[in-house]
Amino acid sequence: MLRFTEMFNGAGFAVDVYGARKYSTPFQEIMLLETEAFGKILVLDGAVQTTDRDEFVYHEMIVHVPLLTLGRKPEKILVIGGGDGGTVREVLKHDPERVDMVEIDREVVELCKREFPEISSGLSDERVSIYYEDGREFVRDKENEYDAIIVDCSDPTGPSAVLFSKDFYEDVKRALKEDGVFVTQSESPFAQRKEFLMIVSNLTKVFSTVRPYLVFIPSYPSGMWSFTFASNGKDPLTVSPEELSERIKDVVRRTSSKFKYYNLEIHYGAFAIPNFIIDEFKK
Ligand code: SAM
Repeated sequence: MLRFTEMFNGAGFAVDVYGARKYSTPFQEIMLLETEAFGKILVLDGAVQTTDRDEFVYHEMIVHVPLLTLGRKPEKILVIGGGDGGTVREVLKHDPERVDMVEIDREVVELCKREFPEISSGLSDERVSIYYEDGREFVRDKENEYDAIIVDCSDPTGPSAVLFSKDFYEDVKRALKEDGVFVTQSESPFAQRKEFLMIVSNLTKVFSTVRPYLVFIPSYPSGMWSFTFASNGKDPLTVSPEELSERIKDVVRRTSSKFKYYNLEIHYGAFAIPNFIIDEFKK
């Protein structure tokens, strides 16, 4: 049995791997690992993207925080990246009329449909259109079109680098409806401090409300991960708990499913930022 420690250095523990397959695509190196601790793991360019056991944290938190803040039935949602399908699976719980997913690498989607059937289950929904192209280019000519835009991409190296710039965020703002909501994965404030600060700073130049929030993802570097919400009309912290509670109940009732991570307390609590990060914002 192979002991695979490299990618878990940040999280501080090693995982036994009993299967490993590697593929090269024009965009990145894909690795699929089989482990006891996390089930199957999707790794892109050496970075863990998705695991069977803890994917629910990432996918629930990147989707339900912004969409329950939006507070109305979304007509059209754009997901950039997200090739494993987990974000689309959660987005569909909000009963959108249409979901566009723009994924640069078709091979990620095909592999995930085969290897992660539950996570990718929403990708075959008739409301979902998948475009295999660069998300940066896709948003350039869009205007006032989406209720929500979700950037579910990999680290700001490789093909995702273009998805974190101020210019990209300007295009995102134009592609959103006036009160639309945006969220991006924004790296680990602990393990990727500079990248996290750069993302928040670039968003602040474009949106009036920018709110980073934190989640606990065991398989990710350091375990501490962040998303950043941005909007020019909505704020996740000004929705009243009574109203939010109704919105949550409505999704649970309609989908006959339960959230495994997200709840009312987590919605507000995730925005509590530790002092060492606040100090970085002040620099
Ligand atoms: N949960 C993950 C994480 O942050 O660790 C992200 C998962 S998802 C698999 C990331 C996807 O973003 C990859 O499949 C990758 O191909 C896609 N991607 C990277 N750059 C992109 C771009 N410029 N446009 C569209 N998709 C992109």
